[in-house]
Amino acid sequence: MDRRDWLKWAFCSAWAELAGVRSSMAQSRRREKQREKVVVVGAGIAGLAAARELSSLGFQVLVLEGRGRTGGRIWTDRSLSTPVELGAGSIEIQRRNPLTPLARRWQIAAEPLRYDSVRLYDVAGTPWGEDAVEKIADRLEAAVDRARRRAKAARPSPSASNSQPDQASPRSVQDVVAARGLAGSLDTALGRAQHWAAAVQTCEYGAELRDLSLAWFDDDFEADWDDLLVVGGFDRLIERLAAGLDIRLGHEVQRIAHDERAVQIETSLGAFAADRAIVTLPLGVLKAGQVEFSPALPHGKLAAIQRLEMGLLNKVALQYAERFWPADADFLGFSSRTPGMFPQFLNLFAATGRPVLVAAVAGDYARALEPLSDEQIVARAQYALRSMFASKTVPEPTAFRVTRWASDRWARGSYSYVPVAASGQDYDTLAEPVDERLFFAGEATNREFPATAHGAYLSGLREAARLAGHSPATYDSRR
Ligand SMILES: Cc1cc2nc3c(=O)[nH]c(=O)nc-3n(C[C@H](O)[C@H](O)[C@H](O)COP(=O)(O)OP(=O)(O)OC[C@H]3O[C@@H](n4cnc5c(N)ncnc54)[C@H](O)[C@@H]3O)c2cc1C
Repeated sequence: MDRRDWLKWAFCSAWAELAGVRSSMAQSRRREKQREKVVVVGAGIAGLAAARELSSLGFQVLVLEGRGRTGGRIWTDRSLSTPVELGAGSIEIQRRNPLTPLARRWQIAAEPLRYDSVRLYDVAGTPWGEDAVEKIADRLEAAVDRARRRAKAARPSPSASNSQPDQASPRSVQDVVAARGLAGSLDTALGRAQHWAAAVQTCEYGAELRDLSLAWFDDDFEADWDDLLVVGGFDRLIERLAAGLDIRLGHEVQRIAHDERAVQIETSLGAFAADRAIVTLPLGVLKAGQVEFSPALPHGKLAAIQRLEMGLLNKVALQYAERFWPADADFLGFSSRTPGMFPQFLNLFAATGRPVLVAAVAGDYARALEPLSDEQIVARAQYALRSMFASKTVPEPTAFRVTRWASDRWARGSYSYVPVAASGQDYDTLAEPVDERLFFAGEATNREFPATAHGAYLSGLREAARLAGHSPATYDSRR
C-alpha cells in the first residue's frame, strides 16, 4: 500500500466504524488472532487508535500509560469558562482528515478557523491594516514555497544519500528569508511585521526557521488550510477512542525487552509480557533515552532518532472578566521588538463568546520562558497585550493556564520537525518494526503527516494493520 492508499484506507476504516460495518476479512482475522497479546505503550491518539483497532480484530490488548490521564499531547483543560486545548487544538485540513468524520459523528463542536482573520498590532498599539498584513505574510510564504519546491526537486535520490548538497543553495527556511530580504530591522514597523510573519511560521512548526530543512519543509505549506478549531474538547475524541480498552494509567514503561518469542515490558508498577508491542513513545522521550530497549534499537533507527528534532510550541490561556479586544478576528498578532515574543493570540471569543485568549509562543523564546514561574510568563503575555492595546486598560486575567511541553517528561517537546541535517526518510526509519516483535507508531513515524493528531492516529492504524498481518504466536505457560 502506498501512502495515498493508507489515507483512503483510514478514511474507510473511520466511516466503516461509524456505520458499525466490519468487513468479513476483519471477522476472519479476529478468529485467527484472538489469542495474541499485544501491549501498546502510550495512550496518546496513536496508541489508542492502534489499541482500538487491534481489539476490534480480536487481539488481547493492554495499554500502558505513564501519565495519570489519556490523550498525551491532546490535553483539554476544563478549568476555564470554555474548554481550552493545551495541546492539539485544530483538525488540520479537515476535508481530507480522518478525524473530521469522527468529530462529526461524536458531536464534538468545531468551528472553521480563519487564518486570514488577523488583527496585527505594532508596539505602542498601532494597528496594521488587514490587507497590508496579508501582503507581508503572502510575500514570505510565496518566497519560501518557491524555494521549497526547487529544493525538493533537487533532493539527492536515496541511492545518492551520501552526496554532499550544493553549499551555495539555501538549506534552511531562514536562508530563503534572509536571501530575499524578508527579515527587516526590528527598529522599523515593516521589519517588525516581517519578523512577526516569520514568528507565526515558528509557531506552526515549533522551530526557528534557521533550523527547518528547506528540502523537507511541509508539502502542504501553501495548501488550502481549511482547519477546524475544536471548541467542544478534543478530550471527547480521546474518551471515545479509549472506551472499553484496558488502559493502565500511572505505569511508566522503563524497559522493553524482546526475543524471538515474546516481549517483556518493565514498568514502575510491575512487568508485563506479550507476544508483541506497539511503541508510541514520543520522539522526545526516545531522544532522551528514558526507556531502555534490550537488545538496543538498531543503529539506523537510533541515528534517525538523533537526527530528527522536537519543536516547541507553548500556550498561555488567559481568561478575563470581560473582553477588551475586537470580537470578530480569530487571531490577534503582536509585532514585537523582541523576536518571538507572543506573536499570536487565538481569540476564543470569536468561536465561543467567552472572554478567553490563548497566546502561542514557540522556538527560542518559548524555551527561554519555560524555567520561569507561571506568574512571570503571564506577566510577559500581559506586557505584550498592554503594548498592543496601549490606548485601553488591560486588566489582569481572572484565571490562566501555562504549558511547558519541553520540560514535560512524557513528551519532551511539542512535535517533531526535520532539521537541516535530517530527511523525511528518517520518519520511515522510525516506523520500521524490529524483529516482528516491536512496532512503532506516533506522529514522528508518519512521514506524510508528521507533527499532527491525524498523522499520529493514522500511524496507530498503520501499525495495527501491520501487526495483524503476522501469524499469531502460541502462548507459552509463562504468560
Ligand atoms: C501545543 C501543541 C499544539 C498542537 N497543535 C496541533 C493541532 O492544532 N493540530 C494537530 O493535528 N496536531 C497538533 N499538535 C500535535 C499533536 O498533538 C500530536 O502530534 C499528537 O497528539 C501526538 O500523538 P502521539 O500519540 O503520537 O503522541 P502522544 O500524544 O505524546 O502519546 C504518547 C503517550 O506516551 C506516553 N508516555 C511517554 N513516555 C512514557 C513511558 N515511559 N511510559 C508510558 N507512557 C509513556 C505519554 O504520556 C503519551 O500519553 C499539537 C501539539 C502540541 C504539543
